Amino acid sequence: MSINITFPDGNQKSFDAPVTGLAIAQAISPGLAKKAALVSVNGELWDLARPIEADAAISIITRDKPEALETIRHDAAHVMAQAVQELYPGTQITFGPSTETGFYYDFARAEPFTEGDLEQIEQRMRQIVKRDLPITREVWSHADAVRHFEAAGETFKAEWIRDGLQDRMLTIYRQGDQWLDLCLGPHLPSTGRLGTAFKLTKVSGAYWRGDASKAQLQRIYGLAFATEDELKAHLKMIEEAEKRDHRKLGRTLDLFHLQEEAIGQVFWHPKGWALYRALEDYVRRQLDAAGYQEVRTPMLVDRQLWEDSGHWANYRRNMFIAEVDEGEIAGQQRRSVLAVKPMNCPCHVQIFRQGTRSYRDLPLRMAEFGACHRYEPSGALHGLMRVRGFVQDDAHIFCTEAQISSETVAFCDLLKRMYRDLGFDDVSVKFSDRPDNRAGEDAIWDRAEDALRKAVEQTGLPYTLNPGEGAFYGPKLEFVLRDAIGRDWQCGTLQVDFVLPERLDAGYVAEDGSRHRPVMLHRAILGSFERFIGILIENFAGAFPLWLAPVQAVVAPIVSDADSYASRVCDALRQAGLRVEADLRNEKINYKIREHASQKIPVIVVVGRKEAEEGTVTLRFRGQERQQTLPLAEAVAILQGSGPNTDLAA
Ligand code: ZN
Repeated sequence: MSINITFPDGNQKSFDAPVTGLAIAQAISPGLAKKAALVSVNGELWDLARPIEADAAISIITRDKPEALETIRHDAAHVMAQAVQELYPGTQITFGPSTETGFYYDFARAEPFTEGDLEQIEQRMRQIVKRDLPITREVWSHADAVRHFEAAGETFKAEWIRDGLQDRMLTIYRQGDQWLDLCLGPHLPSTGRLGTAFKLTKVSGAYWRGDASKAQLQRIYGLAFATEDELKAHLKMIEEAEKRDHRKLGRTLDLFHLQEEAIGQVFWHPKGWALYRALEDYVRRQLDAAGYQEVRTPMLVDRQLWEDSGHWANYRRNMFIAEVDEGEIAGQQRRSVLAVKPMNCPCHVQIFRQGTRSYRDLPLRMAEFGACHRYEPSGALHGLMRVRGFVQDDAHIFCTEAQISSETVAFCDLLKRMYRDLGFDDVSVKFSDRPDNRAGEDAIWDRAEDALRKAVEQTGLPYTLNPGEGAFYGPKLEFVLRDAIGRDWQCGTLQVDFVLPERLDAGYVAEDGSRHRPVMLHRAILGSFERFIGILIENFAGAFPLWLAPVQAVVAPIVSDADSYASRVCDALRQAGLRVEADLRNEKINYKIREHASQKIPVIVVVGRKEAEEGTVTLRFRGQERQQTLPLAEAVAILQGSGPNTDLAA
């Protein structure tokens, strides 16, 4: 018997008996064997100790490779479960998967875990790593597995195996001689290879199999990374994110609040609304320049239109409904059922359908700052990031199939420029193509996907493919921006839609006089103003660039003799369209400067007797040593000229 192993570089090696990944790694070099975490066998990740019994293409996956990370995290979950069972006998294990940053494990235990327990568990985990217990895979019959877990008093595991995994051979992973768990694997060869880059973070409630009518469990969460440096960087990021939390800054900078009487809807305070307006003005200028036509459509729309559009059938549970007695109409009592619009698209089609449209009207770019409401469970809401009432920077481009390409290119360019203006240079794209269940002919999909791909390539944005993740009605692009502390936010979208124009009977007269359906492109750049402002607050940590800042400048007199001059300066700046306040309190100038700095005001305009006599002002810029004394008119011109690309304050 001979087993041929093929390596990624095409080299081959023969073995005369089944061979493990670890032995192969050892044969290549002891160094490689030491760093190895897993072996990829014909594209499938295996344990290093599992014998390879037939010809295979393999590659050794070392601990530092991204493919190993999920296993490291899953190992950490197992090691935690063992630690918990060693420390708290009688605690039952249930499930413990890896997560995006670590892992969790759900335990059944009557007594609640405390913060102190977490420390104990983490210490015990480090001991188990130190013991370097071998992790071994065993294949058990269904009956053996049920018997074992029942005998061990693991009623949850036993139930799961008995009811969910009938008549199957099962894999069991053992750590050392005693502790074991049912698991698909793969795992690292020993607990020592987990390393120490993990940390337990919190404990919360959970239910057996996610079902609130079933037993309550306790879920312990942890972080796990391949290296200490990565763990440290992640902890630093979390700390930074907490400092920048938009809900906290929203309070300290007096921007907005939320309250129970209007769940998931924002009360914008004057300063928050000034920020909102500055952003809205900016977006409007960009859309105007890019040939969009702004419209406004009703908030309450009759059920019939939502039935026609398909939302009533597919989106009803996210819609707020209002019913009203219309009284007697033409001898009949009438009752209207209206939905608060969850999106603007059907309304835009209504405007498109007014009068006769011709090919000469296309592409027609219809924009709306559309106020939408969607029901979200209250548990899913989060500050400005996830709300029930929001305003989209929405637009629909009605165009011909041939125009999809040029419209997508123009959109990508606009989006890239706007993100840059708003402080985000790092933008990537996710491209979702045809799902299995879809409307429209394949030839149309071919052309639409081709148009999107070419447009993204032309814009030079990096993109990844999400195969089969497109909408039922067409392919889509999703735009992801990276913020100042390395977090990714999906904001913009462009979706091609072949279906809605058909459903709502939108048409135009083509060059040859026949009636055609337009294609609709749904597109947004910010996504929603609420969420985007949340992202802006966190990205800038509340220190907005001058052109966006809610209060752009505060005029502060050094002595009360300069009060009337300070008021004149304040008026002049306001006349020039700047958002300015005067601070005429009887306080020391350094106290005022400190306080306004803590409010992250970009510019403090200091005026004293000398300035009043000479008609000048002294500008102090946030985060800079430099100050500048100059005639009032010049100062006005400088501040007024501030925009996305000419920012003065750090
Ligand atoms: Zn739409």
